[in-house]
Amino acid sequence: MSKIPTLFNRLALIGTGLIGSSIARAAKAQGATGSIVATARSPATRKRVAELGIADQVVETNAAAVEGADLVIVSIPVGACGAVAKEIGPHLKPGAIVSDAGSVKGSVVRDMAPHLPKHVHFVPAHPVAGTEYSGPDAGFAELFVNRWCILTPPAGTDPKAVEKLAAFWRLLGANVETMAPDHHDLVLAVTSHLPHLIAYTIVGTADELETVTRSEVLKFSAGGFRDFTRIAASDPTMWRDVFLANKDAVLEMLGRFNEDISALTKAIRRDDGQALHEHFARTRAIRKGIVDIGQDSAAPDFGRPHPDLPHSALPKPYAAEED
Ligand code: NAP
Repeated sequence: MSKIPTLFNRLALIGTGLIGSSIARAAKAQGATGSIVATARSPATRKRVAELGIADQVVETNAAAVEGADLVIVSIPVGACGAVAKEIGPHLKPGAIVSDAGSVKGSVVRDMAPHLPKHVHFVPAHPVAGTEYSGPDAGFAELFVNRWCILTPPAGTDPKAVEKLAAFWRLLGANVETMAPDHHDLVLAVTSHLPHLIAYTIVGTADELETVTRSEVLKFSAGGFRDFTRIAASDPTMWRDVFLANKDAVLEMLGRFNEDISALTKAIRRDDGQALHEHFARTRAIRKGIVDIGQDSAAPDFGRPHPDLPHSALPKPYAAEED
């Protein structure tokens, strides 16, 4: 049987948390690369990655990881990308493609590009896929299937390198789109960063309410609050970096959000049911649109399993008398 050709001979993964370990699992499952070498900042994560067997080799330093690699993907918090680029710059193989997975692109381009040698291709990327879990155990090979991966190559990047990275992501199941870093940051500010900020806010507000005890907040969290808690459980370091790195776009979107929430506040105060109904009907249609294009499940309550009805008989005083 003839061997399926691989896209890259050697993939180096710097950072093997949720995203890096998912890339490793998916690339291995799809035979996208000849071999995978991985590293992480802490000995504990490196040990765990070796135990999981998701990379062919686990090395101790970022410099050792990129040695001889023809694709390097940096999957670490965006605030740390500049320092890592500086560290790996002198060790990169000529012609290698250097990419990342950061949720903000303008800052990554600004921080990494100056440290990368001219003889490599820099193609930043953002797989728009994730969960609220972190670390190498949280990853899974199917994470990117039918999700978008946005590439933001700086002007003048070799189109062949961009296409090769796009082919890699398609092989992992993703749909690929290319856009300018600033545009990416504006779009993601509204679709991802602002919703996370709202979730972090509302969960914190509920937690601080003195009139409602903490146990009641937890006990009755089956309403909309529960869905916010899932998002608000996302990694604190990652999200701290996202807000600091995408400050301008987030502040712009937050300004608009504040105006809209003021309008809804006014509608409630004025008993303007029509305004509320019109707004909620518009947002319901947006949810339907997301389901229609296959970006989420149509299952009610996100497909959560619901327990069976209790089997117990009616207690004595209420049970109908048997003839
Ligand atoms: P994660 O599960 O927390 O893993 C982070 C990885 O980065 C770990 O291997 C960690 O090493 C390493 N790391 C942390 N701080 C570092 C530093 N200062 N220098 C070098 N390495 C460091 O995070 P993740 O969810 O995979 O996110 C990685 C990147 O993907 C982030 O830029 C994030 O914005 C982006 N992203 C995340 C999601 C998501 O939903 N989670 C989705 C799309 C994109 P140790 O374990 O040894 O500390």
